[in-house]
Amino acid sequence: MHLPRVFLRSPLRGSVLATLAILFGVAGASAGQFSRVVIDPGHGGDDRGGRTGKVYEKHLALDTALRLEHYLLSSGLRVTMTRKSDTFISLSRRAAIGNRYRGSIFVSLHYNYTWKRSVSGLETYYYGAGSRPLAEAIQAGMLRRVRASNRGVKFGRYYVLRASRNPAVLVECGFVSNSRERSRMKKGAYRDAVARGIAEGIANYRLSR
Ligand SMILES: [Zn+2]
Repeated sequence: MHLPRVFLRSPLRGSVLATLAILFGVAGASAGQFSRVVIDPGHGGDDRGGRTGKVYEKHLALDTALRLEHYLLSSGLRVTMTRKSDTFISLSRRAAIGNRYRGSIFVSLHYNYTWKRSVSGLETYYYGAGSRPLAEAIQAGMLRRVRASNRGVKFGRYYVLRASRNPAVLVECGFVSNSRERSRMKKGAYRDAVARGIAEGIANYRLSR
């Protein structure tokens, strides 16, 4: 973006740039612009996902998704949830819901599990190269809100990512199998911080479009 010199000398430069970015965003002129986020809480119903004791991935994912929905709606974005209760939905149906909305973004929420109990941290997956900036923005957003080990942004061949026509990521919000992380994710404050971080990551991604 080229600006008149007066803007670049002004002490208000930062806020002017931010205002311009917001105006450009609202105008929605660029091809990468979006106004809807499709949130996909992983698993549900008979598909419990990862589990240790009474801590089920499907419940954690849904709760985090509802918190994320709240933050996105209050920032003026539209939201579609692939599930809003403890029900089973096939992977193809999840992807089809996302593909209903042209130019939206798709965010699948999960909690991780591995037999190696010492493993912990946050990671975000993408499939198409075009989805990588969204994955990076979300990963960075989460890590600003949650103190956890950064497992990074990774390429992953998950069905919901491969089948998506829109930018799509799969977020792993911590390991159910790690006792320290598990005791944190049982608390609403942790899930809220994760949701807030993801929402802020999406907001930054949107400003960069
Ligand atoms: Zn999962």
